[in-house]
Amino acid sequence: MYEFAVTPAVTSIRRRGVEICDVAPNSLGAEIDLESGDRIIKVNGRVVRDYLDFRFQTAGETELVLEVRKKSGEDWEVELERAEGEDFGLSFEQIVPRQCANECIFCFCNGNPADARPSLFIKDEDIRLSFLYGNYTTLTSITEDEMRRIVEQRLSPQYVSVHATDLDVRAYMLGIDKQRADISTKVARLLDAGIEVHAQVVLCPGINDNDVLRRTIFDLAAEYPRITSVAIVPLGLTRYNTDARLTRVTPEFCREVIDQVTAIQKELKEKLGTNFALLGDEIYLRAGRRIPGRSYYGDYPQIEDGVGMVRSFESEFAKLVRRLERECWTSVKQTSATIFTGTLFAPVLKKMIDDFNARFGTRLLVEPLENSYFGGDVSVAGLLTGQDLLSARERVVGEFVCIPKQMLKSDDAIMLDGMKMDEVSRELGQPVHAVNLQELAALLT
Ligand code: SF4
Repeated sequence: MYEFAVTPAVTSIRRRGVEICDVAPNSLGAEIDLESGDRIIKVNGRVVRDYLDFRFQTAGETELVLEVRKKSGEDWEVELERAEGEDFGLSFEQIVPRQCANECIFCFCNGNPADARPSLFIKDEDIRLSFLYGNYTTLTSITEDEMRRIVEQRLSPQYVSVHATDLDVRAYMLGIDKQRADISTKVARLLDAGIEVHAQVVLCPGINDNDVLRRTIFDLAAEYPRITSVAIVPLGLTRYNTDARLTRVTPEFCREVIDQVTAIQKELKEKLGTNFALLGDEIYLRAGRRIPGRSYYGDYPQIEDGVGMVRSFESEFAKLVRRLERECWTSVKQTSATIFTGTLFAPVLKKMIDDFNARFGTRLLVEPLENSYFGGDVSVAGLLTGQDLLSARERVVGEFVCIPKQMLKSDDAIMLDGMKMDEVSRELGQPVHAVNLQELAALLT
C-alpha cells in the first residue's frame, strides 16, 4: 500500500516559473488576460518554482506584481489589486517530483515487470508531495533549500519513511551509508520548527521486526505529540522481487506482529493516551484477525497508507445502509451487478454486500480479483489492472461491473497496465464503473 501514490510524468524539462493550464472564465486571472500556456515567473519579485510557491507568495497579498512569460514568448509585468482571499481562477501544471537517491531493498520499482509503464519506475522523494498527498520521503537526500522551504511555507505535516531507528538496519534497508541514513538532526529541526511528522515503517520479516521494531516505536513515541503516529505496513512482494534478502510476509508473521504491537500499544496508551503505533489493514486481513474498532484509529492519521481504510469503509457503509433505510429504501433499484475488488478485501466486502442484498433486494455479486500482472502476494485493489479484469470475464454477471476507484490513475480513466476504461468495457461487453462508496450508492438509487 505504500507503493504508488502520485506518478505524474517526469519527462518534461524544468523551465522557469509555473505553467498555467487553465483559466476560469470571468475570474481574476481572465480579467488580467492570463491564458493557458503562460508561465508565472515571479510574484512581488520572488521566484515561483511551482504552484505551491504561487499559493504561498500570493497568500494574504492584496497588491501584487506578477512577472509573466506569455505563451507567445513576450514578458509581461502585471500589477493588480485584489480583494482579500479573492481567487485567481488559475489551474497549474502538476509538480514534477524530485527523485530519491536510495536503493531500498524493498523498493516497488524492483517489483515491476520490465515492460511496465515508465511512470511506475519513478522513485519520487519529494517533500512537496509529502505535504500535498501524504507521500513518504526518507529525508536522506533532502537539501538545505527544501528544509528551509518546509519551515518557511509550513509544509506540514510531513510523512517520513523511517523503517528503523537502528541506524545499521536503516542504512541496510535503504541501501545507503550510515551517515546518510541518520536523519535525527533533520527530524529534530523540523519538529523544533513546529512541523508535524507522521512516520512509516515498512515491515520486512527478519530485518526490522521484533526488537528493532520495538525500539523504533519507542524511539518515535518519545517525540509524541510532535511525531503524531507511526504506520506499520507489511512488505509487499510481487513475483518479480527475487532479492534473496527479503522474506515474504505470512499470516503467522502477521499474527505475531499484531500480538507484539498490541502489547506495545497498551503501554503507550497508558503513557500517552494514544495507540501511536498503528498497524496497516493488510496485517489484520492477512492474519485473519478482526479489524480494530473506530477508536483504535483516532482521526485516521495515515488512512492513505492503508491504515484504517477498511474500518472507515465499514463505518461509511453502515451509515449508507441506515440512510437508505430511513429515507428511500423503496428507491433502491433491484439491480444485478458484479463488484470486483482485491482478494484481501473481497471477503469483507462480500459480507457487507450480502447483507445489503438481503435488506434491499439487490443482486450484487462481489468477486475477488487475483493480481496476475504483479503476482506474488499483491492483493490490494489499488494495484489491479485491466488485464486482471479481462481474465475474470467469465465471472461477470448482471447489468454492469463496478471496480474500486483506486484502480485508476489519479485523474485519468486509465489503469496501471495502461488499459483504458472504455477498452475494458468493450472487451467485457458491459459498462464498467470505477466507483467509491458514494458513487456506488448513486448507481443503485
Ligand atoms: S525511497 Fe526507497 S522505496 Fe522509495 S522510491 Fe526510493 S528506493 Fe524506492
